[in-house]
Amino acid sequence: MSKWTAKSLCDYISSRPELLAVTKKYPFRITSHVASLIKHPGDPLWLQFVPDSRELENDGGYEDPLGEESLSPLPNLVHRYPDRVLWIVTSECAAYCRFCTRKRLWNKKVHIDQRSIRDVVEYLRHNKRISEVLVSGGDPLLIRTTKLREFFSAIRRVKHISVIRVGTRLPIVSPQSITRKKMDLLREFQPLYVMLHINHPSELNDPVCEVLSRMADCGIPMASQTVLLRGVNDRAEILRELFVKLLALRVRPYYLLQADLMKGTSHFRAPISEGLRIMFELRHRTSGLAIPHYMVDLPEGGGKIELTPSFIEAVCENRVIFRNRLGKPAFYPLFHGEKRVLRRLLLPRLE
Ligand SMILES: *Cc1c(COP(=O)(O)O)cnc(C)c1O
Ligand code: SF4
Repeated sequence: MSKWTAKSLCDYISSRPELLAVTKKYPFRITSHVASLIKHPGDPLWLQFVPDSRELENDGGYEDPLGEESLSPLPNLVHRYPDRVLWIVTSECAAYCRFCTRKRLWNKKVHIDQRSIRDVVEYLRHNKRISEVLVSGGDPLLIRTTKLREFFSAIRRVKHISVIRVGTRLPIVSPQSITRKKMDLLREFQPLYVMLHINHPSELNDPVCEVLSRMADCGIPMASQTVLLRGVNDRAEILRELFVKLLALRVRPYYLLQADLMKGTSHFRAPISEGLRIMFELRHRTSGLAIPHYMVDLPEGGGKIELTPSFIEAVCENRVIFRNRLGKPAFYPLFHGEKRVLRRLLLPRLE
């Protein structure tokens, strides 16, 4: 049994002025579920949810690392790609991850009223290329079912929107909050994908697995996003265990995300070279279905870029030379004149 509770963690923080100072800027919030999973200070759950004095350091990071504010045609609507928009419907979460990219919102109330719903619908109607709306936050599933239904219905009033995505960590940090009513709602608005945020296999305890199974039984398609975090999950064995477990729970691992350049979170960052090395180790040792894409979300709104370890050694006049994971070379023939195109598509210019 864990000795930690939400209350004992609050007391722990209150008795340490340097941590208390952090929570003045970036509040502390945890669920009793997550608190009970903490085994000792510094373990993967502690690191993710308990404040750290380094959060106040000026480490050169950004307040809004993805430049979301400048890509918002309306308040709380981020439009970066032609066919998808991100709708931030709340700033609240049941538990706050210390490395969060949207920490700038934690002290801001995001309130979506009838007027802003109308504005969003209007915007979607006028932008016919948008086919998908990502409902995010904060954690949208924290919102009352009746209110959430208004958001989803509004989106469904726009005929050219085919898919809704809902980003949430609630099934992981508070499985008991995923009520029958919430599940019915998610089913009512299919095709609707639930995008879970989950970083370590210890987050998948029995109550969490149970709720994920019920969601899958309900017919709710699910995928997961994992942030690569130093000291938490930056080892191939840990991530492999996580991804294989998720796959068995009918959650498709979607993205492994390089940590964003959020101010005061540099202690969480693992180097890109480490992420690539992990991806290299996963490949061929793990079901392809359990391997996510490794993504960097570029600073200042540059967008997401996939990083893949390369198994290509050279592009020659009439063939590509590969080297497999055991270092064994192999060749594949090229069509006449294909070399230039392939070089441009495959090989980076190294400085
Ligand atoms: C990540 C993101 C998306 C979704 O990108 P996918 O690669 O389709 O998952 C859409 N809009 C914004 C603003 C995003 O940050
Ligand atoms: S669940 Fe997502 S939005 Fe909420 S604190 Fe964690 S990273 Fe931020």
